[in-house]
Amino acid sequence: MAMSTLSSLGLDVVPASIVTDPCAEFGLVHVAAGARLAVLADPRSAGFAGFEGESSQHGNRVLVLGPLNGRNAAALRAQLPWLRPALIGLRTSAGFGDRLGRATPGHIRAIRATGGAVAPVFAQQSMREMGRTGRTPADVVDDAMWGVFGEGWRDGFGTDGDHLKTTDDMDRCVAGGFIGFTVDPGEHVWSGADSALPAAVRAAVAQLPWDLLEDREPALKSRFLGRGFDVGSQAIRFDEAQLARAAAKYGRAVAHVVRLYCHLVGTVGAGTFELEVSVDETDSPTSHAEHVYVASELKRLGVSFVGLAPRYVGRFEKGVDYIGDLKAFEQDIAVHAEIARALGPYKLSLHSGSDKFAIYPIVATHCRGLVHLKTAGTSYLEALRTVAAVAPGLFREIYDLCRGRYETDRASYQVSATVASAPRPDEIPDDKAVSVLDQFDARQILHVTFGSVLTEHSADGSRRFYDRFMAVLDAHPDVYAGYLESHFGRHLAPFVSALEP
Ligand SMILES: [Zn+2]
Repeated sequence: MAMSTLSSLGLDVVPASIVTDPCAEFGLVHVAAGARLAVLADPRSAGFAGFEGESSQHGNRVLVLGPLNGRNAAALRAQLPWLRPALIGLRTSAGFGDRLGRATPGHIRAIRATGGAVAPVFAQQSMREMGRTGRTPADVVDDAMWGVFGEGWRDGFGTDGDHLKTTDDMDRCVAGGFIGFTVDPGEHVWSGADSALPAAVRAAVAQLPWDLLEDREPALKSRFLGRGFDVGSQAIRFDEAQLARAAAKYGRAVAHVVRLYCHLVGTVGAGTFELEVSVDETDSPTSHAEHVYVASELKRLGVSFVGLAPRYVGRFEKGVDYIGDLKAFEQDIAVHAEIARALGPYKLSLHSGSDKFAIYPIVATHCRGLVHLKTAGTSYLEALRTVAAVAPGLFREIYDLCRGRYETDRASYQVSATVASAPRPDEIPDDKAVSVLDQFDARQILHVTFGSVLTEHSADGSRRFYDRFMAVLDAHPDVYAGYLESHFGRHLAPFVSALEP
C-alpha cells in the first residue's frame, strides 16, 4: 500500500481505514488517548467544516484529529456514502447485534469470508437491549459505522431497530439514523386462543378492531373459507374454527403492525425503509394457517415487509443450540418457507438465531436464500470470552455478579439454565476461564445479565466493570475480532454452501 499522507505525518493510522480522494484524506488513527478520526483537507472547502477536533496546519491543508462522536460520524457519512445505512431487501442476510459497540470489525471479517453471499446488518439492537446498556439508537448506528470505517468495508450495511413495539420506539430509531425496523406486535397476540373454548374465540373475533382492519366478519370469511392457499407442496385450507382462532390470536397484532407501518410511512415516506414483522417472542408456535392469515392480511392492508419471524416449533433459548425435535422443526420451517415464497416473497427471519448450529443446514436448504439470521447476545459472549482469555480475574468477578443477578435478569428471556449447574467462580483456574463460555448454564447466565454487568456501580459511584471491560476490548481488538470471526464463520458457512449450485 502506498504511504498515506496521514502516516507520513507520523500518525498511527489503521491501514484499512484510509480513504484518499483529491480533496481530502480520511483515516482512523490511534493516539495515546484512544482512537481518533483524522481528516486532512483543504480548509477552503465548506464540506469539511462539519468535523470537530484539534486542528493543525500542514502545508496548504488542515489536519483535524477528532473524537469518534456523533457530530464527526455525521460529517464523515456526508463525505463517504458507503458509511450510510443501506437497504438490504431480499438478499440473504445476517443481523449482528452488538451491545458494546466494538464488534463490527470482527463481524466484517466473518462476512468477508462469505464472499458476498450474505448481506450484513451491523447496526441492530432491540429497545430492551438499548435500555439495559444505556445506549441510544444513534450510538448503535454510529458505533457500527466506525467499525465499518476502520475496516474499510465499502459494500454497505443494513440497520435494524429490533423489537419495536410503539410509535415512540420508532421515532427514536428514525432519529438515530435507522432505516430498517422490526416491529413486534407480540403484546397484541392472544396466545391463549390455542386452548380457549370456541365461545371465547368467537367473542374475541367479534371484538377485533374491524375498522382498523378495514374489514367485517363476513368479508373475512369469504376471503379465507372454501378455498386453498397453494404454497407449493400443498394447499393450506381454513375451516371456520381455524380461521376464528387465527383471527382471534393475530387480528389485533395485524392491526398494530398496520398502525406502526402507517406511522413510519407518515414520518419518513414509503420506500425509504425496510420492515420486518416478528411474533417470535410469543408463547405458542405460529401454525402454517396462522402464518397465511398474518401475511395475507398484512398484504391486503398494504403493509410492505421484507421479513417475517413466526414463532417456530421448539425452543430458541438464548446462547445455546436449538432444543427440540429436528424432524418436527424441518417439517415446520419447510412450509413456512413455502408460504414466504408464495405470499411474498419475503424472508423468514430466525430470531435468537445465534448458536443454533443443528438447524442452520435445514433452514438454509428450505429457505433457498430467502432468510435472515438474527443474532444479538452472542457477540457479547465473545467479548466475555476475550476478557476470560486476557483478564481471567476480571472475568471471574463479572461471572460472580452474573450468577447473583440471574434469577432476576432472566425474567423476559427464554432460558433454562440453573445457577446450581453452572461452574462456581472459585473452581475456575485462569487457564480454564475461557471454557466457561462453552458451558450451557454459564452461557445463559452470562447472556441475560449483560445489563447488570454494564451498569453495575461501586459504592463510590464509579462503574464497577464497564470501563475495565471496554479497556480489555480496546487493548486487544484483534483477539476479540478473531473470536468473532471464527464464531460467526460457523454460523454463516451453512447458508453460504446452501447457495452454491
Ligand atoms: Zn426476536
